[in-house]
Amino acid sequence: MTDWKTILAGADDEYLAGLSNKGTVKRAHKDRETTPCEILDTGDQGINVKLGEEELLIAPVLAESRCSCPSRSICRHIVQAILVLKDMYEAGEGGIKEEKKEKSEALPSEELWQAVLEIGNQKIIRALGMKKLGEVLGQIRAGKRADIARSSTVLVELPDSELQVKFLLPLEYSSCTCKKKEFCAHRAAAALWCRMEAGTLRLEEFEKEEEEPKADLNRIREKAGEMKAALEDILASGLSRTSSQSADTLERLAVISHNEGLASFEDAFRSLQNGYEVYFSRSSSVNAAGLMDESARLYEQICRLSRVKTDGELRNLGGVFHMDYEPAGDMELIGITAEAFQSRNGYQGE
Ligand SMILES: [Zn+2]
Ligand SMILES: [Zn+2]
Repeated sequence: MTDWKTILAGADDEYLAGLSNKGTVKRAHKDRETTPCEILDTGDQGINVKLGEEELLIAPVLAESRCSCPSRSICRHIVQAILVLKDMYEAGEGGIKEEKKEKSEALPSEELWQAVLEIGNQKIIRALGMKKLGEVLGQIRAGKRADIARSSTVLVELPDSELQVKFLLPLEYSSCTCKKKEFCAHRAAAALWCRMEAGTLRLEEFEKEEEEPKADLNRIREKAGEMKAALEDILASGLSRTSSQSADTLERLAVISHNEGLASFEDAFRSLQNGYEVYFSRSSSVNAAGLMDESARLYEQICRLSRVKTDGELRNLGGVFHMDYEPAGDMELIGITAEAFQSRNGYQGE
């Protein structure tokens, strides 16, 4: 037996607007005054309805209802038929509206809320991808919150975004203002925000996904050995006898650093390479002591890298490439003074 009373009780205007849109629901209300509606029969598939010239099947999963008109989506006929059926079932057999109407309307919303909260972790992670997952976790850690309105639908306004996600039952019929039909990244983010609201979000379940793959420390130590040997060669020949090939060697070491994800080493090698190039061009701005100081400091870092034992240690030494920015809360800046700078790597600004 299909519990039509409960199904239809959840189909208020808000829900129907979720299936179609506000205009269609308005139109359907208006059409009730003019278009006759006849209930033909009720079967396993649903309720057959004749509405004006159209023939409809209202399915127990309302969103799967069909109409004979050319529309491929939930048309105004379907919405009108649902409105008529809803009034009928609410009126009960004797045509008397039953008590506790509000209570039966509150039920589907709770069911929907539970369904949203139970959207699986893997589904959320797959739809978001690592990059967007990191962004949402960053927003959560920065104390942002989504606006969530619960009724027969769950409406989620994503923070720092114009997009809105509307969940409804069954969840496959939920919509997003990005217009995608499938479970998009926004729906996934909205599901996380709902868990946050309900207090059921366990950040650590997602944070472990966020972690970078474990580095191969043996390989890093081996590469550090290569760097160390190459830099020793350069240092052993002394600055005045260093060949111009040194700059090429340093360039090669910068590339190795990049490929191993060692951001700060790449930066240091490029800076040193630049220093050597300036030195070979016999520019007057060369500061030989500064160059040696820089080389010695880099050498010391490489020695530490060649003994690295943990991932955390490696992260501290190697740094990270900042491809993306994560929100980190709001900050107020007060300008005091400005100074122009130009780094040896060519960065300049104020
Ligand atoms: Zn239709
Ligand atoms: Zn979307």
